[in-house]
Amino acid sequence: EQEFEDRRRLASRLCRIKHKIVVLSGKGGVGKSTVAVNLAMGLHLAGKKVGLLDVDIHGPSVPTMLGLEKSQVLEGNGELVPVDLNGMKVISLGFFLKEQDEAVIWRGAMKTGVITQFIRDVAWGDLDYLIVDSPPGTGDEPLSVCQTLEDADGAVIVTTPQKVAAVDVRKSISFCRQINLPVLGVIENMNGFVCPKCGELTAVFQSGGGKLMADDMGVPFLGSVPIDPRISEAGDSGVAFLQRYADSTTAGLFQSLIIPV
Ligand code: ADP
Repeated sequence: EQEFEDRRRLASRLCRIKHKIVVLSGKGGVGKSTVAVNLAMGLHLAGKKVGLLDVDIHGPSVPTMLGLEKSQVLEGNGELVPVDLNGMKVISLGFFLKEQDEAVIWRGAMKTGVITQFIRDVAWGDLDYLIVDSPPGTGDEPLSVCQTLEDADGAVIVTTPQKVAAVDVRKSISFCRQINLPVLGVIENMNGFVCPKCGELTAVFQSGGGKLMADDMGVPFLGSVPIDPRISEAGDSGVAFLQRYADSTTAGLFQSLIIPV
């Protein structure tokens, strides 16, 4: 009886969200959260109704990147009220983590459905897009995320140009195929370095790996973003890069990655 009611509630939430996009990466530290935050912000600035759900238990960085460390999630009528950032709705595991050690507890909880709760019990309302910052890798945690969002539009896979990262991204693509989640495309992050003084782009790793790999695997290549010190500076300052450096060339690159689904 309760299970039926839970499912009904989940279904009625999901059907008010037009597009669901999962941001995935084969490993941590490649810029997955940066992409998720800026993808969400780009759509928000374009006038869409956007929700951002951060369930990366290995390091929920969305609160820091958006300056929401002190934000609290309120509860009312059995619902969680998402944090409102000028109209963009945000839920992060970080809002519920007091100590870093608690990540271990959440790791267990992920498997038993905390992600379901974050969708079913959160007052998302009507959304054009829900962007989900998933835990990295291809284990139980991202699996749980993708299964809950079973009718998601697909995954955006973030990688870096090095070879090892490309091996990881192949695993992520296979993972999506196994669970029938469409791959919307691959984004190659940290491809080259933008000099903060002159703005010139210097290749750091052999470039073009992401594109070759995407072609080889038969998935779309969405584009590259260089290493730009302003990206980490913006992330640490709590204002999304796309907002803080809206007029920069790199912001233009981010804008061009916004996926029209
Ligand atoms: P992940 O979610 O994959 O672990 P993050 O998005 O948290 O990775 O990024 C890791 C760190 O690298 C952050 O400090 C972020 O600001 C920085 N970063 C990400 N992408 C870039 C980039 N293109 N240029 C400079 N710094 C970046």
